Amino acid sequence: MASMRILDLVYRPVRIYLKEPFVIANENYSYCDVMVIKIKTDGFEGVGEAAPDEVVTGENIKTVFRALGKLKKTLVKSHVDDIGETMYKLGEILPLNRTAKAGVDIALYDAMGKHTGKSVSRLLGGRKLRMETSVTIGITRLEDSVMEAVRYKRDGFKVLKVKVGLDACEDERRLRLIREAVGERIRIIVDANQGYSVKEAISFTKRTRDIGINFVEQPVRADDLKGLKAVRDASDIPIMADESLNSPEDLARIIKIKAADMINIKLMKVGGISAALEMARTAKENGIMVMTGCMDETKVGITAGMHFSTASSGVDLVDLDSYLSHRNEIAVGGVATIKGVNRIYNEPGLGLMLKEGVL
Ligand SMILES: [Mg+2]
Repeated sequence: MASMRILDLVYRPVRIYLKEPFVIANENYSYCDVMVIKIKTDGFEGVGEAAPDEVVTGENIKTVFRALGKLKKTLVKSHVDDIGETMYKLGEILPLNRTAKAGVDIALYDAMGKHTGKSVSRLLGGRKLRMETSVTIGITRLEDSVMEAVRYKRDGFKVLKVKVGLDACEDERRLRLIREAVGERIRIIVDANQGYSVKEAISFTKRTRDIGINFVEQPVRADDLKGLKAVRDASDIPIMADESLNSPEDLARIIKIKAADMINIKLMKVGGISAALEMARTAKENGIMVMTGCMDETKVGITAGMHFSTASSGVDLVDLDSYLSHRNEIAVGGVATIKGVNRIYNEPGLGLMLKEGVL
């Protein structure tokens, strides 16, 4: 394969509006800003996205913009066909800024796929094209949560992710009402986004044992791994680490003290597909289940998440739904969500195109 030199890196912030304001334990917002990224080579262009969430990685649209400016010089001298090497070099320049690097990594994989005529998933040895996704219910009034749950069930979703963490008693009530409304066959997962104290989290898992909750995501503060472990040890419901896991070092600590049964890997937290593949492999080797999650990503990030998830044998389930709640979209093609199943197609790269005028 001929080497493919990177000629330019271009990027622009785009504001994405949500259909409804979104409330979770530690955030409340009605729009988000993402960075659309394009890598130009002497053959093809690769498209990527960096969707920062300041609460989780400390990055925002401004730090992403500055980081890309710093990475550009090194990138432009690099070649697309050695993504691992290129990402390593970018890591030497900026050890953190994982969301910015994720955007570059995704664009590199898209360009590489187009160059070889293979989908990113195929390129990585993937054989699947579809995976069931969960769909998220934010913290809303009881009756609104129930109505939303029923609507998602009617639309074909089989896994509901219910946000909790502001008020444990109210959370329990919402979960009971949702379970009653959707029946026993719908799976319910719960995400507290660090909202509980260790004591509250333990009592929550005891009180809700009979509701049929598949697992509880990040019940306690991100930096309290010991607390997470205490909850895990006391709970019959499996516990997942999300905000506590941003890097391979975090994963090593979680494995060492057995702080969680499962982890949530997001491309935007870990620095892209290359890093995510490695972490999913390590998790699997250590008996930890993996879910691929997302920030508030458009179709570009979600499609990249699907290519990663279908290619990695370590990924057990996906929670890749953010683009469904957006009013405006930047790309056409890529992932499609039909009756609760995300599907991708065997087209070169990510199989999508930016809409006219986006970048
Ligand atoms: Mg989460």
